[in-house]
Amino acid sequence: MSKGLPKRSEDYSLWYNELVKKADLAENSAVRGCMVIKPYGYSIWEKMQQQLDQMFKDTGHSNAYFPLFIPKSYLSKEASHVEGFAKECAVVTHYRLKNSEDGKSVIVDPEAKLEEELIVRPTSETVIWSTYKNWIQSYRDLPLKVNQWANVVRWEMRTRLFLRTAEFLWQEGHTAHATREEAVEETVQMMDVYAQFAEEFMGVPVVKGVKTENERFAGAEETYCIEAMMQDGKALQAGTSHFLGQNFAKAFDVKFATKEGGLDLVWGTSWGVSTRLMGALIMAHSDDNGLVLPPKLAPIQVVIVPIFRSEEELQAIEEKAHEIMDKLKPLGVSVKFDHRDTHKPGWKFAEYELKGVPLRIALGPRDLANNTVEVARRDTLTKEMINLNEVEIGQYVTEMLDDIQNSIYQKALKFREENTTEVNSWEEFQRVIKEKGGFVSAHWDGTSETEEKIKELTKATIRCIPLGRVEESGSCVLTGNPSKGRVFFAKAY
Ligand code: AMP
Repeated sequence: MSKGLPKRSEDYSLWYNELVKKADLAENSAVRGCMVIKPYGYSIWEKMQQQLDQMFKDTGHSNAYFPLFIPKSYLSKEASHVEGFAKECAVVTHYRLKNSEDGKSVIVDPEAKLEEELIVRPTSETVIWSTYKNWIQSYRDLPLKVNQWANVVRWEMRTRLFLRTAEFLWQEGHTAHATREEAVEETVQMMDVYAQFAEEFMGVPVVKGVKTENERFAGAEETYCIEAMMQDGKALQAGTSHFLGQNFAKAFDVKFATKEGGLDLVWGTSWGVSTRLMGALIMAHSDDNGLVLPPKLAPIQVVIVPIFRSEEELQAIEEKAHEIMDKLKPLGVSVKFDHRDTHKPGWKFAEYELKGVPLRIALGPRDLANNTVEVARRDTLTKEMINLNEVEIGQYVTEMLDDIQNSIYQKALKFREENTTEVNSWEEFQRVIKEKGGFVSAHWDGTSETEEKIKELTKATIRCIPLGRVEESGSCVLTGNPSKGRVFFAKAY
């Protein structure tokens, strides 16, 4: 049964939008750029959150919550920060509505003007560092390692469900340290945590690197990032970790008494991943039949679909299904038995395919007679008949889930490798960006002017200067000026 998804090869962008809607992940809301995350989509996001939250706690962070509103004066305390975010801020100016004179509508009450306008947080460095000023006095108060799960608002002009929305959900870590070295170490550590999460849980291989000055976070000294490749060859910035230097400590006068008896400015970091990761997950693995979810993040890992004609048949199957579930649940496998009689098995097959459930077990009267089950893998769309006299179902399913997790990662990695091209001339650069896409590894002279020129000519941007790159002297692909090494270019979301 076809769910009528457009094909990726025909219109990737339409395929993505339709998939997000048809798989019940999210939909557009009445406010442009804002989305409703539906229960199924939210349950995937929750799995991501739980895992990330554990990883943050394992690396010594605690959660806290800071206000949604930021006084306008705070935002302007760090010059480059306000410059970076000014263009996309939502501002609260009034606190009351009243009936219009003709009584037909409500209007903003001009008398209820706020003394100081408030910004809906686009990110929370300013409000958090103004608080840290009170929390940090001495070296004994450091390091301070806080994370917050929150929503933020950036008034984006071109929005896409999950990938770029005006309001999005995210986590933002904000840490304070006594030394530069410790803050840099924290920044790198959190980029590594993001990379580990992307690869081991999402099954999405990423390139770790640092951003160029042009792409750096407003107010940071260095932005580390992870970049992923989507199936259309475009890059997606999947997470960022910023070394803030002493910029926010200076702006908010956050100083600490050192062990040696001096007074120093505090060093800071901030790092975040957002609901954009949902977009990355969807775009990296899914196919023309629907979602393909990595088992580690799938809300339902196994679905059992009964094939029956009568109530008696269903009852007998139900007994067997419960026997199987009793073996799977103690192993931590999330399994659902879909016994609804309102939908035909074929409809259910298509539905779970669309929703990306990694394994489907079909159980019919003939299976009961033979003690078999039919197991279908979502990622490869292959089916296998399993004889339960010979195969231990718990072991079989857990091994199969591991195999799916691993093979979708390997598939994405192979795709990235096949779509990463080293180029050495401007002609080659233009041709590869235009015809093949993907990541292009090329020499760059290190200047913002060249970076901008290349963007203007090809729409490709520097995704990152990869960490651990081979330092080799070469000449810039555009200007021919000396270069210290290769960087990754790509068209990006
Ligand atoms: P930043 O604070 O700009 O470094 O962004 C932190 C994280 O949020 C990054 O992983 C971005 O990819 C993600 N992000 C930035 N803007 C948006 C947006 N409009 N919608 C969804 N995610 C976003």
